[in-house]
Amino acid sequence: MVAQRVRRFLVALLLFSSFATTVVSQELAAPDAWVALQRGDASKAAAIFRDALDRSPRDAVLHYGSAQASLALGRTDAAISSLKRAIEYNPKFIQAMVLLAQVAYDAADLDLAVRMLEGAAAIAPQDPTIASQLAQWRKEAALHQSFQTQPGVHFNVLFEGPHQKAVGEHVSAVLESAYWNIGKTLNIYPGAALDVILYSNQQFRDVTRAPAWASGGYDGRIRLPVGGALRSLQALERVVVHEYVHSVVRHAGGAGVPAWLSEGLASYFEPGDKTWASKALRAARIRIRLEELVEGFGGLDGATALIAYAQSQIGAQLLYERVSPHAGSFLQLLGNGHTVDQALSRHGVQPEAFYAEWRRRIGMPADGTR
Ligand SMILES: [Zn+2]
Repeated sequence: MVAQRVRRFLVALLLFSSFATTVVSQELAAPDAWVALQRGDASKAAAIFRDALDRSPRDAVLHYGSAQASLALGRTDAAISSLKRAIEYNPKFIQAMVLLAQVAYDAADLDLAVRMLEGAAAIAPQDPTIASQLAQWRKEAALHQSFQTQPGVHFNVLFEGPHQKAVGEHVSAVLESAYWNIGKTLNIYPGAALDVILYSNQQFRDVTRAPAWASGGYDGRIRLPVGGALRSLQALERVVVHEYVHSVVRHAGGAGVPAWLSEGLASYFEPGDKTWASKALRAARIRIRLEELVEGFGGLDGATALIAYAQSQIGAQLLYERVSPHAGSFLQLLGNGHTVDQALSRHGVQPEAFYAEWRRRIGMPADGTR
């Protein structure tokens, strides 16, 4: 999830700088909707944009706003069609192109992502962020084109050549059984086939720009370095299941799931020993404030990341215990724009009591804010 968050930050930056000066300074239609978006009330924003679009169906900025609201509500497909319409009505709408490129990339549609960014680069050839992102994605597309695909019902496994065929088959088998095991546990069975790409270690670092401690990644597709980094089949299975849980969590909960919950569930459902988390915490003196576990862990060094994962696993386990057997519907509430606290309350769990128990289990002083 690491690279994804970095990229999202990039787009946010791009959007903020150019959108603020070129669009917001103009007379904005539906100003209340933008205010609602900024306040985090995406449902209200979506409703206002919808009404405004009934009156002005060809207003590109309204479609763009509507896409932002859809994204905040976890409705990727709706966001994609709104962005396409925004670009149709204003073919030079660079912010819409950059956002559509990012959304398409996160939805594993690399072709659309590259096409959109090419359009943006044609309008702003001097923009270094767009140029370097485009170069990166083109490189990735070229690399994948040279790969072989083993297509399946739930997974398409891509790998470099015959020497990786055996590991590809093993990964397919592990994923297929994870599909049913995790499906039963969380009651989530994604319909669309998920791309799973096996890289050499160097390719993995190049494509994901993940920190050195990362042993896999999920950003709309599962990416795994298999060039000897995974020393044993056990380690391989652990990473495969971990990344698959991320995809399931994303499928149900969209982008609104905090890092601690996604990483925590992914760690908790990995096959093998679950006691590593409490051991790691017993051995370490530091604790990370729970608020700091909301964004990804990509910026942390290896030792701090270990603590972040341990605290997350214990938090996710607690949450799973409290909301079980409704973990799937809990995640869907997050996907519909509810906060964790709201979703907890809906499941009859007092948020403050939940955080207090989480802090107790990780051995964190009660006066730590949350
Ligand atoms: Zn993870």
